[in-house]
Amino acid sequence: MMAQYLEIKEAHPGALLFYRMGDFYEMFFDDAVAASEALDIALTKRGKLNDQDIPMCGVPVHAAEGYLLTLIRKGFRVGVCEQLEDPAEAKKRGYKAVVKRDVVRLVTPGTLTEDSLLDARRHNFLAAFAEVRDESALAWVDISTGAFNVMTCATNRLSPELARLTPREVLLADGSEMEKVVREAGAAVTDLGRSAFDSTLGEKRLCSLYDVASLDAFGSFTRAQISAMAAIVEYLEITQKGNLPLLRTPVVEGETANMQIDAATRRSLELTHGTTGGRAGSLLATIDRTLTAAGARLLERRLSSPSRHLETIMVRQDAITFLTEDSKLRGTLRDCFRSVHDVDRALSRLALDRGGPRDVAAVRNTLTQAEQVAAYLNDDMPALLAQSAADLTGHNELLDLLDQALVAEPPMLARDGGFIAPGYDAELDEARELRDEGRGVIARMQQQYAELSGVNSLKIKHNNVLGYFIETPATHAEKMMTPPLNETFIHRQTTANQVRFTTVELSDIETRILNAGGRALEIEKRLFSSLRSQVIGQAGRLSAMARALAELDVCCGLSDLARAENWVRPVIDSSRAFELKGGRHPVVEQALKKDGETFVANDCELTDTNIWLLTGPNMAGKSTFLRQNALIAVLAQMGAWVPAQSAHIGLVSQIFSRVGASDDLARGRSTFMVEMVETAAILNQADDRALVILDEIGRGTATYDGLSIAWATLEHLHDVNRCRALFATHYHEMCQLADKLDGVANATVAVREWEGDVIFLHEVRKGTADRSYGVQVARLAGLPPAVVERAKVVLEALEKGDREGGGKQKAIIDDLPLFAAVAAPPAPQTKIEPSKIDAKLKDIFPDDLSPREALALLYELKELA
Ligand code: ADP
Repeated sequence: MMAQYLEIKEAHPGALLFYRMGDFYEMFFDDAVAASEALDIALTKRGKLNDQDIPMCGVPVHAAEGYLLTLIRKGFRVGVCEQLEDPAEAKKRGYKAVVKRDVVRLVTPGTLTEDSLLDARRHNFLAAFAEVRDESALAWVDISTGAFNVMTCATNRLSPELARLTPREVLLADGSEMEKVVREAGAAVTDLGRSAFDSTLGEKRLCSLYDVASLDAFGSFTRAQISAMAAIVEYLEITQKGNLPLLRTPVVEGETANMQIDAATRRSLELTHGTTGGRAGSLLATIDRTLTAAGARLLERRLSSPSRHLETIMVRQDAITFLTEDSKLRGTLRDCFRSVHDVDRALSRLALDRGGPRDVAAVRNTLTQAEQVAAYLNDDMPALLAQSAADLTGHNELLDLLDQALVAEPPMLARDGGFIAPGYDAELDEARELRDEGRGVIARMQQQYAELSGVNSLKIKHNNVLGYFIETPATHAEKMMTPPLNETFIHRQTTANQVRFTTVELSDIETRILNAGGRALEIEKRLFSSLRSQVIGQAGRLSAMARALAELDVCCGLSDLARAENWVRPVIDSSRAFELKGGRHPVVEQALKKDGETFVANDCELTDTNIWLLTGPNMAGKSTFLRQNALIAVLAQMGAWVPAQSAHIGLVSQIFSRVGASDDLARGRSTFMVEMVETAAILNQADDRALVILDEIGRGTATYDGLSIAWATLEHLHDVNRCRALFATHYHEMCQLADKLDGVANATVAVREWEGDVIFLHEVRKGTADRSYGVQVARLAGLPPAVVERAKVVLEALEKGDREGGGKQKAIIDDLPLFAAVAAPPAPQTKIEPSKIDAKLKDIFPDDLSPREALALLYELKELA
């Protein structure tokens, strides 16, 4: 057995081997050590090799999925090695023969299909990046749904595209230089031999997969695109051991189809992931009102890839508009979606032969809902709705079949039967009748035997070892084993309290029951596989149905949101307008609402002057304003409505956001370095249709350095990039730029000063901020009063120096009294008792005193001190 283990292990380098032994998957040697640590399970040993103990650990088969998930999350890949024959078969070959085993599947992060291993509301992409001469391409597939896409992708575009798709695993050709980029995107890297990427071989592989003579049937592909797709297909063949998943025909995505958003911008805008990495706090979590898993996945795709095609956007807007106006229809459709299952994933499991009766039932139940949904839609509705309706119908034949064949709520696994409805197959009904009749006969037999033996507590029971047996308490053993009873009852087993018997008659009936039961099971399995192939035969149309339902779910969800949150339909055109009236930040607004506060809406207009230079104190709401405008552009171009009173947006090609940064210690970069790298990317890439938001550029370095960098950056955006931009800064000096550059206007977030405190109004107005109010904000934050007072003194001195100019600043700073000299105002919580001196002073009226009396008083006061 060990020899077999080692041979299989050697054939699958890099994978942990789950070696099936009965009810366990066992791991040996280094695998066992690594797995026991990763899974926190006991490490034992079994046998010896070269005199050394062999480390071993194992997980029970029935609980294997949970362990698999942990291992995959921790970066392992796992080869699942099964027993390919019944151990009884092996025994026939000889007493020492080892059961045939082989790896039936390699489980890797990008090739999961089990519901328990996947997030239902997120895609799980496997991607491949291929370079052929000076061209490169990225292909990606979700094998749990079959969606397959490819695009041309220059090497410098790989990082943003990976950020958009967030694949779990990326295939690279051996020796590729892209490994670092992939790892930075958080995906696992899998190296494949160069032959897997061979485009000529690949083309043949793809043609045979889709059974077409030429790939032209699906569009025209570049060599690099074919190479990337071929690598994926090859890898699926390796990992799924020839059991290929259903792959939909590949769709080429144009490079300019989507708004470009790089990884840093996605992070900073928190589009699909919040700061903690999960969905919480993200824009996605705020706008997601979908009711189906496929709808949730589609929504995430839309939000990750806002469109740049006017028509695509308008088609979606029309559907949403229609549904916002007809809330009754929307409600009815949403009720239907609650019973829709995840057909994409069910189909994929069925195709890989990992599906069960519930997957077939998922198809049936969804078809039923689809029929209902279609009945509410018609051709007079907007194109998207009418088109969806067409994809939802026409499945009557399959639906009738599944309706008749399956019981209402089938079990998970086909193995135990019990899912085919009575009346569907005459042979099955007959076998089941025999089996059930047998059970009735046994009940009658128990009664007869109890009477015959006079043992009232006699029972007929069943277990897997003995089959059916008769059981009596041990006290009756002797009587049962002496004539005449021992002529009928044949002793089988004695336990502590019981004695067990069988009879010839009981064995007979048992065989009959077993035979009938076995036959029923065989028939059910046969019927299952026929149902499965009929479902898979319709996979293309079923996918289209699933897609239509997901589309409708997304439309209804976004309409519901628009209605409930008072959003508007934005006007999108090819102008360069950017005019928002009463815009709001959807995520901040929702958070404030929970606390019973209201969000202050603000306008933004970047049409005539395309850059706004925004000043205002910390905490005034600058970052919020910057982000909300970017988010509104993203929402508008994904086809949704937006949180504003009105919005007019000329298509945005790219969005860049540099709002706050943290040290990237993992990559050895300081805050300032990160900031500069990201700013460089923006200045080098932003075209004149880009929307750029920059917050406090240059903050990470000395004042004058920072100011100069911010200044030059703004000039570059204005003169070279010529894009629409919002630029928040602390450097009030920059406000002068508005007079020099036509396209720059000043704006500020208003605050009011009241009794020495600042009050944040969160209102964005044209003009400049008069002051920073940094000291006041620091006070609000709870800086010790002594420090606040001291800061005020320093600030005054510095400002005075600035006004007087000519190197005066240094002199004034040098003249500042020392810190300790500033009397710390008493801490507010300690109440001071008036001293005797105070009491005395209160009674003194200097005007009434002669110099002599004054002198005497001074002595008196001195005494009191
Ligand atoms: P800044 O970037 O100017 O330091 P932020 O944008 O981080 O300020 O905003 C600070 C806080 O003020 C936010 O956390 C939010 O709670 C609140 N805030 C910002 N903008 C608004 C607004 N328009 N209406 C209401 N509250 C707001």
